[in-house]
Amino acid sequence: MSLDFPTITVLGFLLCIGIAVGFSLLLIVLRGQPVLRQWTVSLWLLTLGVTLLALRPYLPLVPAVLAGNAAMAGCGLMMLRGVALHLDQPLPLWRPLLMAAAFMACIFAFLVLWPDLGLRLQVFSVFALIVDGWIAGLLLRHAPPQQRTSCRLAAAVFLAEAALYALRLFLPVAPDAGEDIMRTGSPMFATYIAGVLLELARCFAMVLLLVERMLVDLRRTARTDGLTGLLNRSAVLADGQARLQQVRRQRRPLVLLLVDVDHFKKINDRWGHLAGDQVLCHFAAVLQHCVQDRDHLLGRYGGEEFVLVLAGSTQHEAIELAAAIRVRLQQRPAPLAGAQVAVTASVGLAVDEGQGDLSTLLAAADAALYRAKAEGRDRLVCASRAADSPSPIAVDAAPV
Ligand code: GH3
Ligand code: MG
Ligand code: MG
Repeated sequence: MSLDFPTITVLGFLLCIGIAVGFSLLLIVLRGQPVLRQWTVSLWLLTLGVTLLALRPYLPLVPAVLAGNAAMAGCGLMMLRGVALHLDQPLPLWRPLLMAAAFMACIFAFLVLWPDLGLRLQVFSVFALIVDGWIAGLLLRHAPPQQRTSCRLAAAVFLAEAALYALRLFLPVAPDAGEDIMRTGSPMFATYIAGVLLELARCFAMVLLLVERMLVDLRRTARTDGLTGLLNRSAVLADGQARLQQVRRQRRPLVLLLVDVDHFKKINDRWGHLAGDQVLCHFAAVLQHCVQDRDHLLGRYGGEEFVLVLAGSTQHEAIELAAAIRVRLQQRPAPLAGAQVAVTASVGLAVDEGQGDLSTLLAAADAALYRAKAEGRDRLVCASRAADSPSPIAVDAAPV
């Protein structure tokens, strides 16, 4: 098989169809992905554009070339919109639409008024160069931290495509080509082959963007408590264990607090479970407000119980933090429809003494919390003294 213009056109067309069908199937499987919808429409527009431009010898020239270029412009715009959507960046539509209108005006001028295939190819290269550069710029400037790999790889593909169109601006078109794209010469032919290969690379880049985004979303969901939005139990325990090992290596202190809402069952019984949920969310927001240090972890341990891992904090600092939580709870009762519900909490505190793992600290904090409840609630008990203490009454039970 010889690689000539007709062959590469057929190959390019088959590739476009294959990719568009593949993305359509992906769209069916991954329902509810607006970004994928934009990209799939963009790929079908590309297929339509390639088909119309390739078949123009058999179609009325002016409508075929105008419609083909309009489809190619639509492809670029949908790709751009999809990328902006993927990056959660607002994209005022008037700018790309204005650009597409200018592109179509130039194509019309060099097709109907002053017919010149070479100039039309240049106009198309400028348009594609701007769209590809725009997309690469968005990907590089607005890549979310956890999706940098896919964004950088995709940006590299779009930059390569932009470079190809920039190069095409300087390539000669065979003078005897007339209106026949198949006779534009070897340099142009080489750019068509490169274009087909880059189309394939672009498809992989888009899949990569989607896969990395979905992985990040899945990981976030798997680590998040559905009600309060805090870390869930397994995430806070895993991260807490890692922090514990880190502070021990660095010979820094660590304190664990278990915080339990007092008499929460009564709130549920009086106001109902939905109101109870609202109180839990309010309580979580209060904790989050008080825990601002990047070294500190906050998660929902279960039910109405929360865990704080204060890496780098001393017992004294942890007691101050617990006091701040208490003050804020007093100042801000939970707002329910038509009522304000005052909430208090009991806290068990355990200081790392360099032995055991996080579960050792949790057990100690839990014992202290148990004592705080026994002492009358709305207070903090420190595990170190609680453990040494001969009786619950003599425990260091201080109002938080
Ligand atoms: P104490 O002061 O001893 O901690 O008493 P308490 O009532 O807070 O504790 P108890 O363990 O007796 O009751 C906790 C209640 O929390 C029981 C359970 O139904 C409720 N609960 C657990 N998870 C949720 C939740 O996600 N939403 C709501 N509304 N209630 C929950
Ligand atoms: Mg409770
Ligand atoms: Mg409890």
